[in-house]
Amino acid sequence: MSDLEVPPVIRDVPGQEHAVGFLARAVAHPSHAYLFAGPEGSGKRLGMRAFAAALLCPYGGCGECRSCRLTMGERHPNMLILEPAGPDILVGKDAGDQNTARWLASRAYLTPPEAGWKVMVVLQADRMRMEAADVLLKVLEEPPAGTVFVLLSARPDDLPDTIRSRCQEVGFPPLSEEFVVQTLVREGLDEDRARLASRLAGGNVGRARRLARDEGALAFRRVALEAAARAAQGPAPALAAAEAVVAASREFQARLAVELEEELEPFLDERGRPEEAFRGVVRRLEEQHHRRLRRAQREFYDWCLLSLSAYFRDAAVLASGEDQTDLLINLDRPGDLGRRPADVAEAALAMGAVEEARADLADETNLNARLILERLFLRLSSLAVVGDLSRA
Ligand SMILES: [Zn+2]
Repeated sequence: MSDLEVPPVIRDVPGQEHAVGFLARAVAHPSHAYLFAGPEGSGKRLGMRAFAAALLCPYGGCGECRSCRLTMGERHPNMLILEPAGPDILVGKDAGDQNTARWLASRAYLTPPEAGWKVMVVLQADRMRMEAADVLLKVLEEPPAGTVFVLLSARPDDLPDTIRSRCQEVGFPPLSEEFVVQTLVREGLDEDRARLASRLAGGNVGRARRLARDEGALAFRRVALEAAARAAQGPAPALAAAEAVVAASREFQARLAVELEEELEPFLDERGRPEEAFRGVVRRLEEQHHRRLRRAQREFYDWCLLSLSAYFRDAAVLASGEDQTDLLINLDRPGDLGRRPADVAEAALAMGAVEEARADLADETNLNARLILERLFLRLSSLAVVGDLSRA
């Protein structure tokens, strides 16, 4: 990359050298549309802000001017961001229907408020309903001049091929363990804890940070392992295990609700109403909170299942015989795992069952989370590798 001047604002996107190089070259002659693809926490959104800032900045992405500051805060007037208001991105009634495909399309051909490029962003683009995708596709087929589309997705395979083929794809792979660990260590966290958090979070630096900082954040792993140990005792305890996970997720949601309330306090008067000057801020925060709370229970389930999956993965690693401590995720609990060599095939079966449940839960149209958990724990109850947990 030495022969290329990388705009400072793009250079600051950490841990994604390939994407940084690609975007630095793209700024000079941008295409109409990009798809930033990669898992949660890999830096897609930061990459999007930086790329937009480099396009909109009169100095080529200095990272310091008014334009850069506005863009990095996602508030630049030439920037439009569409994100799902509910589970899906809908087509919308008309141009006035905010956060819908018709709303976005109606703005695509307008002259931007300020001179220069216009950047139109679609967050979680895989959540577009078919009719919404059709509307966006029409726009991409007749791309408006001076406009760059940036679609973000953690599940690019769920996007219609017609849309995907019109975008240049920029990969944001999971951040490397070493990168996540070093980032957290620089922030003052203990290295062992940083490594454990990094492995549990699978390359998601934000999630790793939460896990490493907050003692309570590891609670979901305890909930998950206890539930699996219970499931090993038979079908009836397996159903009770599912119930215990559901109850723990409700508690998590309730705790989160209290924390979010506290975030609003500075903006409220003594009667608990937003102060005049902060009405807009409070409304935006409330909308964000609403979305977070709606997702909280499924997020908790996902963390639980991820830690179970990691546990069975570790069991498989140990079952392979050699000393593979370097590959373990649950570094702080080697005692649980070392009891008895598990059967690799069984550990793989358990992992498969957990991953299937995770996929089912990720599909938000699947309304009955409890049923998915019950099915999972019933399946796990028949596996000896799960029985090992109860003896640990
Ligand atoms: Zn600038």
